Amino acid sequence: MMEKTLVILKPCTLQRGLVGEIINRFERKGLRLAGMKMVQLTDEVLSEHYAHLSSKPFFQRVKDAMMVCPVIVCCFEGVPDAVQVVRTLTGPTNGRLAAPGTIRGDYSMSFQENIVHASDSPETAEVELKRFFKPDEIFEYKQAVFGSLYANDEILKEKPKKRMILKCVKVVAAAAFALVSLNVSGQDLLARQAPIDR
Ligand code: ADP
Repeated sequence: MMEKTLVILKPCTLQRGLVGEIINRFERKGLRLAGMKMVQLTDEVLSEHYAHLSSKPFFQRVKDAMMVCPVIVCCFEGVPDAVQVVRTLTGPTNGRLAAPGTIRGDYSMSFQENIVHASDSPETAEVELKRFFKPDEIFEYKQAVFGSLYANDEILKEKPKKRMILKCVKVVAAAAFALVSLNVSGQDLLARQAPIDR
């Protein structure tokens, strides 16, 4: 099962001309780009997106910074844990404390101007992706490198459930077939025996 997550390249990233470099970080990790577009965010959508910060003194400042220019919203996808993988690549909120090697650690000196937003859980990712993308803006396609990115059992991780359901369907179908056959042959037998009984 593929997991999707939302990444927003913040205005500071566009202002500094880092869009290509940051997208490249996620791509070279092996995450598949499933959707991408440029949008000008509004105070309304940001109030919803950053609702968890509404009591903070910097709430309006953070929203204002997100409206300086358009942002790039991306949907990245990978087999389970894509959300966590993207958060790990991104690093902690404060760029000054983020470890070198993480995106914020390599490109940010700020708590606020920290290059990207990344969903913090699969549940949040689902809500956030719906906030920024229409269903037909997310694309399903197979990458030729897929088989080289994952081991078979990683790709099939979620499939046992499906296989189990299929097995059950097969067993029930076989049992039904056997019952029908038994009933038919029983009736045949009775029909054949009928003249003898008379
Ligand atoms: P994250 O983006 O790491 O998930 P939060 O959801 O807590 O972090 O905060 C959203 C954004 O608000 C941060 O990415 C950052 O731009 C800004 N922010 C959060 N905390 C602060 C802070 N103490 N000072 C300035 N900006 C902050």
